[in-house]
Amino acid sequence: CGIFAYLNYNVNRERRYILQVLFNGLRRLEYRGYDSAGIAIDSDPKPAPQASSASASDSDPPPIVFRQEGNIESLVKSVYQDVAKLELNLEASFSTHAGLAHTRWATHGEPAPRNSHPQSSGPGNEFLVVHNGVITNYEVLKETLIRHGFIFESDTDTEVIPKLAKYVYDKANEAADGQVVTFSQVVLEVMRHLEGAYALIFKSSHYPNELIACKRGSPLLLGVKEMTENKENGSAFDDNKTLSKDGGPKELFLSSDANAVIEHTKKVLVIEDGEVVHLKEGGVYILKFENDKGERVASPTKIAS
Ligand code: GLU
Repeated sequence: CGIFAYLNYNVNRERRYILQVLFNGLRRLEYRGYDSAGIAIDSDPKPAPQASSASASDSDPPPIVFRQEGNIESLVKSVYQDVAKLELNLEASFSTHAGLAHTRWATHGEPAPRNSHPQSSGPGNEFLVVHNGVITNYEVLKETLIRHGFIFESDTDTEVIPKLAKYVYDKANEAADGQVVTFSQVVLEVMRHLEGAYALIFKSSHYPNELIACKRGSPLLLGVKEMTENKENGSAFDDNKTLSKDGGPKELFLSSDANAVIEHTKKVLVIEDGEVVHLKEGGVYILKFENDKGERVASPTKIAS
């Protein structure tokens, strides 16, 4: 029913602060109604990054998912309990971190933790997805993925999306001859198979510190809060809706609802149907999958059969 994501780039933020931003985002979505909620955050920050290590095997430790039936405050309570149980440090500081949050209004599958979002590609949470809307062709996708060995844990239509992303990612890497497959290539290929209405945000351990959002028929907004003073007066977006890749410190917000974004920044971009927003290395890249009539305008490389 509501989606929210928060990415801080080159701004040190403690885990406690990141959790607060995600919970406040959920509280802003609460008025729309929901039956369950969930979030995903990163594991502890890795030791110093190694130069030029972009291989597919160099994934971050798996993101951590918390999901709960019922109201936001009961999710908040159970997250803090689990954080203590898992011995996660609330003071751990992340210079860049990508967090997801979701309030669910069930369409497929009863309200239950396993049906709450983020939905996962499977053990290790290689791909996580929060979804608003309905995937109308999920049954056929699910059958195909089960034939390929995927084990489903929920009754949602959404679960096919992260599992399809993992399938596409694995296939693409088999075929890629050492070439690095980008996160947006994976998502564009996933979108090619989806029918129905959706606003989606993807997070992946294979693409740490990146987020991808896309939409068709469900609302989605991007908010950008730049921390460098000289950027505050100008527009955050150039004509191609692309932010300069200057790596300047910033906070990025994605949400289905303006309420959850405008408390942080007035620089808001409404994402259109068929657009794919890739947040990466301090840049915002908007790719077109299809125009507003649903006609394809870009041909993403076909990376799975
Ligand atoms: N169809 C999805 C589900 O039932 C998403 C529902 C929503 O928009 O909250 O899990």
